[in-house]
Amino acid sequence: MTDIKTPEERSRNMAAIKGKDTKPELIVRKYLFSKGLRYRVNNQKLPGSPDIVLRKYKTVVFIDGCFWHGHEDCKYFRLPKSNVNFWRHKIAMNIARDYSNNVDLKLAGWIVIRIWECEIRTKSNRENTLLNLYRRIIGMPNYEKSYAGNIDIGLIAADSDLPYGK
Ligand SMILES: [Zn+2]
Repeated sequence: MTDIKTPEERSRNMAAIKGKDTKPELIVRKYLFSKGLRYRVNNQKLPGSPDIVLRKYKTVVFIDGCFWHGHEDCKYFRLPKSNVNFWRHKIAMNIARDYSNNVDLKLAGWIVIRIWECEIRTKSNRENTLLNLYRRIIGMPNYEKSYAGNIDIGLIAADSDLPYGK
């Protein structure tokens, strides 16, 4: 097959690909792979296009950017000084969409794990975050509760009303 893309198209594709592979995501993927887990990435058929899909464990993982997903009290989440209302609204809409995707995924039997970008980006947190993520995925009972609270779907109050995929 011949590659009929123009150089311009090709560089645009490369940029798009680059955008998908944000660094925290790569760190998480590499770690899980090193632990022997196999997964698919950016599955666009599932609600919210989860960053990592582990079918064997019926688990999806999102690595949420602190700005776009509105990580409260996080140093990476600072609203721009101009157009504050615009940004506030935009991020509120993102949070609402995350919530809706969480519900849809859970109803479809998926376990949903969300981790914040800052938990990977900050070196002091990284190791702990990754280890707990791994434990959570494979269903080890003793993952840290505080961490689990963080990555579980805190947005859904009546969590137990929704079915898990186990
Ligand atoms: Zn954060």
